Amino acid sequence: MVNEFPQVVTIAGTDSGGGAGVMADLKTMQARHVFGTAVVVAVTAQNTLGVQDFMAMPTKLVDEQFASLAADFKIKACKTGMLADAGHVHNVVENLKRVDFGPLTVDPVMIAKGGAALLASAAIATVRDELVPLATVVTPNLPEAEALTGLKITDTKGMIAAGHALQALGAKNVIIKGGHGANPQTASDFVLLADGQSFWLSAPRTNTIRTHGTGDTLSACLTAELAKGVPMATAIQTAKGFVAAAIADTIQVGHGHGPLNHWV
Ligand code: PLP
Repeated sequence: MVNEFPQVVTIAGTDSGGGAGVMADLKTMQARHVFGTAVVVAVTAQNTLGVQDFMAMPTKLVDEQFASLAADFKIKACKTGMLADAGHVHNVVENLKRVDFGPLTVDPVMIAKGGAALLASAAIATVRDELVPLATVVTPNLPEAEALTGLKITDTKGMIAAGHALQALGAKNVIIKGGHGANPQTASDFVLLADGQSFWLSAPRTNTIRTHGTGDTLSACLTAELAKGVPMATAIQTAKGFVAAAIADTIQVGHGHGPLNHWV
């Protein structure tokens, strides 16, 4: 008998440049040996220099993509990424409640490294109030954690407080990514698990502008590991290690914030 291959879905926006969003997610899923599928919520015109334009899909088409997957696949884990605006966040939440796509990783994507807003500011409250409560794990960077919790994070104590605030909002497990922090040597993430245990994950900081899609890659790798049944703490450690290796083993593509090497 052929065993069913682990199937996962990314619910997110595309990147025509291939380095972030749905494209980074599918490449990561392939690298982690799970079968990646996608619900495209928005399409961006993008390269390594920035986001030139984007448009959200009609919500009816988003509904139909959810229905297509639910009718045919056994999705074992899912993630959300760029969701564009409050209406689309709400629509995705409604769809997630209708289907059983397994553990949900919420990557609360807000602003691209080049400065483009991938989520309307009015939608932050919708992510906080409707999507975060569904999250098996939420993976904000520091600015996203601040936006969701209303806290100003200036040190490790602030990261710990934000982790607990996100759990109070309903997320079961939390990773606060410290990549936007001030320490020049290391990037440290704070992890708070559902059972209250917490730990720090540190990786040496690589001096590179080739970091496009790091958040997507982390959350996609985490989703892949959860689909395989890997326990949360181990899945998080694997995802952090995968991203660190993908940043360190750089490839030369494009003229700006280059994409990661997903072949590590
Ligand atoms: N484009 C899309 C569709 C994304 O989902 C993301 C991040 O989640 C980005 C761009 C931004 O990537 P970065 O800020 O890593 O360059």
